[in-house]
Amino acid sequence: MANPDRAIWDNMLAHLRKHHAPLCRNWFEQITPVGVADGSIVLRAGTVLQRDYLRRECIGAFNDAAQTATNSLLAIRFLGPDDLAPPPPRDRRNSTPGREADRDDADAHANDPAHHAVDGAVNGSTNGAATSPAASGDNTTPRSSAGRNAQQSVSHRVHTASEAELATRPGTLPINPDYGFENFIIGPGNRLAHAAALAVADNPGGAYNPYFVHGDVGLGKTHLLQAICVSIRESRPNSVMHYVSCDGFINDFMQSVQGGRMSEFRHRFRDVDVLVIDDIHFLASRDRTQEEFFHTFNSLYQERKQIILSSDAPPEEIPDLEERLVSRFKWGLVAKVDPPTFETRIAILLAKARLRAFNLPDEVAAYIAGKVVTNIRELEGAISNLQMLCSVEGRPVDIDMARESLGDRPEVVTRGPTIEEIITTVCGFYEVKRTDVLGKRRHQSISLPRQICMYLARKHTRHSLEEIGGHFGGRDHTTVLHAVRSIETKKADDADLAAVLESLDKGLRNAIGR
Ligand code: ADP
Ligand code: MG
Repeated sequence: MANPDRAIWDNMLAHLRKHHAPLCRNWFEQITPVGVADGSIVLRAGTVLQRDYLRRECIGAFNDAAQTATNSLLAIRFLGPDDLAPPPPRDRRNSTPGREADRDDADAHANDPAHHAVDGAVNGSTNGAATSPAASGDNTTPRSSAGRNAQQSVSHRVHTASEAELATRPGTLPINPDYGFENFIIGPGNRLAHAAALAVADNPGGAYNPYFVHGDVGLGKTHLLQAICVSIRESRPNSVMHYVSCDGFINDFMQSVQGGRMSEFRHRFRDVDVLVIDDIHFLASRDRTQEEFFHTFNSLYQERKQIILSSDAPPEEIPDLEERLVSRFKWGLVAKVDPPTFETRIAILLAKARLRAFNLPDEVAAYIAGKVVTNIRELEGAISNLQMLCSVEGRPVDIDMARESLGDRPEVVTRGPTIEEIITTVCGFYEVKRTDVLGKRRHQSISLPRQICMYLARKHTRHSLEEIGGHFGGRDHTTVLHAVRSIETKKADDADLAAVLESLDKGLRNAIGR
């Protein structure tokens, strides 16, 4: 790579760090500039996942950086380690008129004379040869030049095995290059889920089948699922994996039924080594999809193929899930992810900052970890805000800046209310007796406060449904589940009840001094 292009890329990186900080990752350092072709700067990412992330999330920011760094309307084109670089410009200009349609990152300005002028200028300095993989220093896949020429003459299309695989499996979710095991911080809340995920990745179909991870939103379930996918893809590149959201499964099923394409659907979901379905709780109360999923599960299980599922609730608490599926989900390993402790939150913040090449001092990480306790996605949002503020203000991060970027959130105590505190607050509000709420009376004046107590206990404490039922006069877990659902449903249509619940939440915060 000749110097002028290196210099352009360095300027682009500086621009990205300043103006698009939250998108930046430490591995951007390893991106190599390949050259300029047809009005596009061609950049090569270190892995296919990184390339896909760049194409998915970063094209606008990189175009902006390219245009600022070169002062011309150059666009960006990303390649993966094995993707063929576009041929030198002279070849391309002589090629067939339809060639633009073959491009992955179509460059709307390719035919603008201004760009050819720029191409000429930069290519003059790079001698045109920089557009070949060899010249970019990319020798990850040695190819004979005859082979390369043959491939180029057949098509200029950038094509990889992973794209081919994605093309045959519609609905496959993109994998985030940040979601590997190496970026997952282990803490008391996720130790088991993580250890089991590693075992599954090492021995798919043999360790825990199915692997079922559940927990509240933003606690790392999707990250673990994707880490397993990444790891299996690396260690067993030939294994066939299908990774979809539950909605993806449902939509694919509906469309396949309507279009009479059930055999293709079954091939997609059953002829795989690993099936990964994120947020399986959405399967609830959809009879036909449950039926289909049941058969999919059985078919994969019998063949000793790995099934990996995530959910916001344990199997027995997924509403309207058929008993036969509840029991199957428990055949392998059911692991829960709990919210991270203070120390884990700090470690996650520091790891996320490192990944974003963002210098976050320990004391600032501790400050944020004390303020943001609910979920890890929020921690990440806090880093993004801080990173933006830092680049806009152009000064190093300190606690004042963190305070400013978080707004005036109160310092949060990680302790939530106890069931006792909930009962006291609710009884005080409704002016009912504690013994009545815990007793058997079914009158509406008692049953509503009782249901609210159960709902709040479920919301604010870590007790299981059985434990909560035990607290309320030895009631069954299904009674608690019914109470929780009934309050959730009523709350949605009843503004008065929603206001009562809000004021009870406030009362509880006061009760524990938050
Ligand atoms: P869920 O699927 O449980 O809602 P995600 O997997 O989407 O949560 O996680 C939300 C964010 O938090 C992601 O950016 C993820 O990388 C991050 N995250 C969650 N747990 C961890 C962890 N233990 N270590 C590092 N990052 C984590
Ligand atoms: Mg998720």
